[in-house]
Order: sequence, then structure tokens, then C-alpha cells
Amino acid sequence: YKAKSNNSGHHVYRSVDNSHGETRLRTLQELRVALENDQLVLHFQPKIDLSAGIVHSVEALVRWNHPTRGLLFPDQFLALVEEANLMHGLTQEVLRKALDQAQDWASQGRPLTVAVNLSASSLVDADLPERVGAMLKARDLTASALILEITEDFLMADRDRARDILVRLRGSGIRISVDDFGTGYSSLAYLRDLPIDELKLDQSFVFPMAEDPRAAALVASTIDLAHGLGLRMVAEGVENATTYDELVRYGCDYAQGYFMCRPVPAAQLDLWIAARTGDPARSL
Ligand code: C2E
Ligand code: MG
Ligand code: MG
Ligand code: MG
Repeated sequence: YKAKSNNSGHHVYRSVDNSHGETRLRTLQELRVALENDQLVLHFQPKIDLSAGIVHSVEALVRWNHPTRGLLFPDQFLALVEEANLMHGLTQEVLRKALDQAQDWASQGRPLTVAVNLSASSLVDADLPERVGAMLKARDLTASALILEITEDFLMADRDRARDILVRLRGSGIRISVDDFGTGYSSLAYLRDLPIDELKLDQSFVFPMAEDPRAAALVASTIDLAHGLGLRMVAEGVENATTYDELVRYGCDYAQGYFMCRPVPAAQLDLWIAARTGDPARSL
């Protein structure tokens, strides 16, 4: 899919190829079945606490276990989910699964905070804070078990509504992270005005760090900016030791990337955590 802007200035998605109408229709039908028949699965990728060298939290990333096409990634179906107005259902499903897993980890005596991605269309659900609160309660989890990752278009689509929902979520103790930071319609004003906890620097800023001193300088300054505002900084897309070490040097709080661990099923993540030998940068 490609993102484009509509008149209200926020992202909408459209399929790259509308010529395969039949395929698209079939996929739409399959999507509904997927939601009903539990074909969505979550993979988990750790965020490493760079000062303590431990796993800070894990991000839940959705995959579609398609009956004939195999495991599909978000870029292969999320645009269609939006188009078909099925994002609400997907979000509920992902929250349910992520919190089930969090409950599982907690009951094994090793609680792990999970981060769940929210699309901008989640804004239409004014009951989201209550719904999430009830889901946590039903599993005996506290709000600290959950981080919600939102994108800048979520913040920009309807500022007042976004603020209202975020205030209620955060009031209950759930942490809010701004995903893909730096790529959206950044207005620095929202950093000052909106109730958020952390910024997640987009991987496009992190990839070139090791080679390009200017890219590195940009990351270092953005980390300082976050800290000046009392926010935590997460770097995503850490693919090598040089980048990892630089982020530590710049005082970045958390890092996520293939260098440490790819997104994997929960059982595999458990093995990865168990196998770590105190070296936070150990790869899977
Ligand atoms: P995101 O939330 O920014 O997640 C980061 C993406 O970068 C993930 O791709 C992850 O696998 C990938 N990644 C992590 N570390 C590295 C690295 O070191 N190098 C590279 N090249 N990539 C890395 P994924 O899982 O394909 O997800 C893509 C996007 O789909 C996510 O971006 C998020 O916007 C969306 N998404 C995923 N799961 C959900 C969901 O449950 N709900 C919603 N609304 N969106 C989701
Ligand atoms: Mg994310
Ligand atoms: Mg991101
Ligand atoms: Mg992204």
C-alpha cells in the first residue's frame, strides 16, 4: 500500500494495485474469516533497557497465519483491514492476545510489559480507555503491564479527541509511546501539549547512524530533546553493534532491533530471554 494525504491532512491508505479486484474481494472475505477463526498471531520483539541491560518490555506485532498463503506481515494486509473497516476488530483481537500473553508471563512469576500498536482509526472508539481498563482488570494486570504505541497521524487526525482519549488512558496508568517519531506531520507543539511518555524514533533515522555522522548527530539531539521534555527515547531498527554502542553513548533509554532480537513467537522469546548471558546485545 501507499500512504497518501487527504484534505484533512492525515494519512489514509489505499491498495497499491486496484486492478486485481477479484483478488482484493477474496482477501477481504478472507480477512473477516481470519478475525472470526482466530488466524491472527502475535510475534513479540523486546525493547532493551540500555542502562540496565535488561528487557524493558516487548512489542506485540500482528501476523496473519493465512490458510494457504502462509504467514503474512502487516504490510500485506493492514491497509485492507483499514479499508474494510475491520481495524476495530483487529485491535480488540490484538489487545486480547497481547494481554493474555502478559497474564501468562505474570502467572509464571516473570511479568513483562507488552506494547500494542494502535492505528489512527482507533480514535473513533471513545470507549477505548474503559475497554482496555476492563481487559486489564479481567486478567488481574495493572496498567503498568501495557504500553500503547500511537503514530503522529493519530495525534493529528483530531487533536481534541486524541487528547481526550490519551488523558483518560494515561490517567489510568497506561503508558503512551509515539511510534515512528519524526516521519509524520510533526508539530513540536504536541510534544509539549499531549500526555505522552516516550518517543520511538523511526528506524529511518537509526539505520544510517553508523555510517553518517550527521544522521548520528540528529539522533543524539533528538534524544536530548526528549529528555528535556521529560520523555523517554526508544530507538527502533538497531541492526548492528556500532549503532547499539552509539545509542548507549548518547544516553538513549531503550533500543529495539534485529541486532538484539527479531520479532518471534512468545515461546521463542522465552528461550531468547533464558539464553541471554547478561550481554544485552546478544542476538537470537
Ligand atoms: P512499527 O510499530 O513501527 O514496528 C516496527 C517494525 O519494524 C516491525 O515490522 C518490526 O518487525 C520491524 N523491525 C524491528 N526491528 C527492526 C530492524 O532492526 N530492522 C528492520 N529492517 N526492521 C525492524 P512489522 O512487524 O512488519 O510491522 C510493521 C508495522 O505494522 C508496524 O510498525 C506497525 O505500524 C504495524 N503493526 C504491526 N502490528 C500491528 C497491530 O497489531 N496493530 C496495528 N494497528 N498496527 C500494527
Ligand atoms: Mg510500534
Ligand atoms: Mg515504529
Ligand atoms: Mg513503522
